[in-house]
Amino acid sequence: MVTRTKNADYLKALRAIKDRRIIRVLIMPEGVEYYLVKKRKGSGYYLVTDDLHCTCDSFLFDVILRRKKKYCYHIMAVKLCKSKFASQCREIKKENFEIIFKEILKGLINQ
Ligand SMILES: [Zn+2]
Repeated sequence: MVTRTKNADYLKALRAIKDRRIIRVLIMPEGVEYYLVKKRKGSGYYLVTDDLHCTCDSFLFDVILRRKKKYCYHIMAVKLCKSKFASQCREIKKENFEIIFKEILKGLINQ
């Protein structure tokens, strides 16, 4: 069961990368890096910070509360982007991040 969930998450992560839903946000000169994962359906983004935290429901319920897995597929997708698929990862500038911040909030509200 755990393996099936892990495989399903891996496939979802690959799909997110293929669909170019991973966005790297680098804020300079502070050098702060965030990743956004666009929701598959509807509008809004999940915010992934430091490969450790995601703003999605699965992270809250399956990772934090139920301890069913170590991370959600959004974090997995970000890790894969960093290690193998850097060219598939979109980037945005600080100014655009401020605009997109509303979309992150939408992602939090419309889960
Ligand atoms: Zn997530």
